Amino acid sequence: MRRRRSRKQRGLIIAIDGPAGSGKSTTAKLVAKRLGYLYIDTGAMYRALTLKALQLGLDLNDSGALSKLADNTKIKLVQHEDGVRTYLDGSDVSEQIRHPEVTRSVGPVCSVRHVRRVLVRQQQELGRDGGVVMEGRDIGTVVFPSADLKVYLDASIRERAKRRYLQLKAEGRVTSMEVLEQEIAQRDMQDMSRRESPLRMAKDAVLIDTTAQTIEEQVDEVIALAREVIRGQRRWRVKTENTFYRFSWHFCRTLFRVLFRLTVEGEGNVIRRDGVILASNHLSLLDPPVIGTATVRELNYLAKKELFEYPILKQIITRLNAMPVDRGGVDRVALRRVTGLLRNGQAVLLFPEGTRSEDGSLGRARTGVGMVAVKSGKPIVPISISGTRKAYRCLLGLDKIRVRFGKPIFPERLKLTGNRRKDYQLITDEVMNRIRKLQGGSVRR
Ligand code: C5P
Repeated sequence: MRRRRSRKQRGLIIAIDGPAGSGKSTTAKLVAKRLGYLYIDTGAMYRALTLKALQLGLDLNDSGALSKLADNTKIKLVQHEDGVRTYLDGSDVSEQIRHPEVTRSVGPVCSVRHVRRVLVRQQQELGRDGGVVMEGRDIGTVVFPSADLKVYLDASIRERAKRRYLQLKAEGRVTSMEVLEQEIAQRDMQDMSRRESPLRMAKDAVLIDTTAQTIEEQVDEVIALAREVIRGQRRWRVKTENTFYRFSWHFCRTLFRVLFRLTVEGEGNVIRRDGVILASNHLSLLDPPVIGTATVRELNYLAKKELFEYPILKQIITRLNAMPVDRGGVDRVALRRVTGLLRNGQAVLLFPEGTRSEDGSLGRARTGVGMVAVKSGKPIVPISISGTRKAYRCLLGLDKIRVRFGKPIFPERLKLTGNRRKDYQLITDEVMNRIRKLQGGSVRR
C-alpha cells in the first residue's frame, strides 16, 4: 500500500502554464534544477505524437486516426545529464520535434479529445509522486487541478516575438519580427479558443508577467513561491515590513470573512513584483480595507484630505499607507506621490470614479487612472467589488462581499495614439470596460 507522504517529503507538484514564448520552458527547467525536481515538458509529448502522424502521412483532420495513434504510441521523457530528452517509440526525437513543420501541425493534433485524454493520463502518472515541475497549457486547470503551486507565465506578443527572433537568429535562421508576431498571435488564438482544454489561467494561479523580467528574476519568483508552500506558510499572508499594517490586515481579513463572508477571485492577477495600479469601482467606505485584505500585496491608498484633519485618524490611516488627495481638482502633489511609489515598485489602489457611486452603478470615470498609468508606465489590475454598499445584508446572511481581480492591462499593449490626453482617456475607458465585464452584469451591489 502507498503511504501518504508529506509535501516536504515527496516534493511539490508545480504547474506552469502560459502561452508560447512566455518563458515557460526555460523557467520550468531552471526551477526544477534548483529544487532537484523532475522537469516535464508536456508540449514535447504533443509534438512527438504530431511528428509520428506526419511521418506516417496521416490526415491531421482525421481525429479517429489520431486517437488510434495516441493509443498505440509510446512517448517517454528521460532525464539525461544535459537535460530531458524525448523518446518516440524508443527513438530519441528531441531535435526533430522542434522542426517548424511540427510546430505548424501540432494544433489539430492537440485539439483531439481522445489524444488529450491519453496524454493527460500519462502526465498525471508522471507527476503523481510529486517533486515535479510540469509545464504546458492545461496543467493547473486539467492535469493537476490540485497542484501545490500554479504559476501562469505571460508576456507581451512583441516581447515573445523578440525572444523567438533572437533564438532563430542564433540558429542562423532569418525571419521578420512582423511575421513572428503574427504567428504568435495566431497560436495564442488557437490555444485559447480550442474546445478541448483551452489555455486559460487557473483561478488559483499566480500570474507572472515576464515581459520586463530576466530569466533569473522569473526563476527566483517561482522558487520564492515554492518555498512558501514548502514551509507550509499560508499563502494568505500579507507581504509587508509594516507591523501595524500586517496586524490590521489579519484582523480585518478575519472580520470580513466571518461577518461579511468575503470571497475573493483572481488574486493571482495582482502582480507580485514591481509597481502595479489597482483600479476598482467604488461603493462604500469599506472598499479600501476590503480590497486591502483581499490581496497579499501591501497597498497604498488615496484618501480625501479632510480625513487628515483629525489627529488620531490621521495617525492610523497614515500608518495604513493612506495619502491625502484634494478632490477639488487635479492634485499634482498626490499624483506625483502616486507615480513615485509606483516607480518604486509599490502597489497603489485607485478608484477611477473618484467618489462613491450613489446607486451602486458604475459611474463616469475621471482620466486620472490613465494619467497615472502613462506617467508611471505600470500595469493596471481592474477590480470589481460588490456587497459593500449594503453590508448589513451580508451581516444578515443575505449577501456576500465579493472582490474580483481581473487580468492586468498593460497600457503599452493598447493601441495608443501618442496624444497624451487621448491616451489617458483610452486607458481609462479600457479599465472601466474591464471592470464592467468583471461585474458580469451582476445586479447585487
Ligand atoms: O509548449 P510547446 O510549444 O512545445 O507546445 C506545443 C503545442 O502543444 C502547443 O501548440 C500547444 O498548443 C500544445 N500543448 C497543449 N497542451 C499542453 C502542452 C502543449 O495543447 N499541456
